[in-house]
Amino acid sequence: MKKVWLKPTKEKSLLRNHPWVFSGAIKKIDNKIIDGDIVEVYSNKDRYLGTGHYSEGNITVRLFEFEKQEISIDYWHKKINKAYKLRLSILENNKENNVYRLVHAEGDHMPGCIIDIYNNVAVFQFHSIGMWKLREKFSKIIIKIIPNIDLIYDKSENTLSTKHKEEFLVSNCILFKNQEIEKTIICENGNKFHIDWVKGQKTGFFIDQRDNRQLLGNLCKNKKVLNTFCYSGGFSIYALNSGAKEVHSLDSSQNAIDLVNENLKLIPKLKSKHKSILADATQYIKELKDDYDIIILDPPAFAKHIKNKHKALLGYRRLNTRAIEQIKSGGLLFTFSCSQVINKDLFKHMVLSSALIAKRNVRVLYQLHQPPDHPINIFHPESEYLKGLVIKIE
Ligand code: SAH
Repeated sequence: MKKVWLKPTKEKSLLRNHPWVFSGAIKKIDNKIIDGDIVEVYSNKDRYLGTGHYSEGNITVRLFEFEKQEISIDYWHKKINKAYKLRLSILENNKENNVYRLVHAEGDHMPGCIIDIYNNVAVFQFHSIGMWKLREKFSKIIIKIIPNIDLIYDKSENTLSTKHKEEFLVSNCILFKNQEIEKTIICENGNKFHIDWVKGQKTGFFIDQRDNRQLLGNLCKNKKVLNTFCYSGGFSIYALNSGAKEVHSLDSSQNAIDLVNENLKLIPKLKSKHKSILADATQYIKELKDDYDIIILDPPAFAKHIKNKHKALLGYRRLNTRAIEQIKSGGLLFTFSCSQVINKDLFKHMVLSSALIAKRNVRVLYQLHQPPDHPINIFHPESEYLKGLVIKIE
């Protein structure tokens, strides 16, 4: 096994099970280590600390193991099977659901690896070249452990670095196919959606909002709902199925609006209660003419890197201030952030500051987060990324 040694005292975060080794912590590495290699990490005093994937860059090793052992196909089989058993235990009582995240990177001790299951389709999205190199092995394991998988698609072309893409000729591709299939219809808490893993964003759907959509469903009977940043209309379809009076779905991408319109075809009787709006959310809310009872704000990550944190906070505040100003008295705002660098306290402060600027009285009814198939590795605070609040505005 190839080895990496750390500088004195740089082992501290690893001893607390944090899975990242930054470049500045490294004293020396074995000869001939290349990107994607599995390496063992040792302290300055030659103490074994963990095993992970090597990749030149700011985060140089991503650890997936803290106990010295052989990393065989059996090792990965056990790990993926454990992840699958966890999902079964979380979702087994939900007979109306066949969509879930099977592997959530650091949350499942597999940094750089995302695997989403859409009924009979598995979609891989790798963020580390080491995990990407294992894609064929993972594919075989998944076919063995999950019944009825008809297709496995790897969608890593845009999530791996350009350097790796060129060096390893990474391209989106089918890894396994049981039958010709281009699309699938999934069922999330009884709500149906088309999934287009090829053209859609991320792996095709934002599974992380499952529980929060269910909450909206519980609160929206006879209400007029505006779903901004709607993507394929996740919140909108729940609202329509749950008896909302009227639902407007807004996104700035035509592709997203097309997906909403496709999903509406699955509930033809409710279509007349819905309107799709192609617009910029911030601008639309600023000039809001309609009287909405509920507004949903689920923007994309405004900050992907710590250096953009402040600017992102200002962006969130502008958006939330406008929504709080404009919503009718007694209205509910579902507001979210999926930026890893904005933690839940900062997010709550941002909403507080928006309420002060808007000069409205605001109470927090629910504090929302990612669902349990997106587990948070407690030693890796960065894996807690989705936060939301449901606030009532007087
Ligand atoms: N709420 C969605 C996921 C939102 S993803 C769900 O439950 O599935 C973020 C969406 O915001 C994307 O669809 C993107 O096209 C859209 N978007 C990005 N910038 C926008 C803007 N300025 N105005 C409106 N939509 C925007």
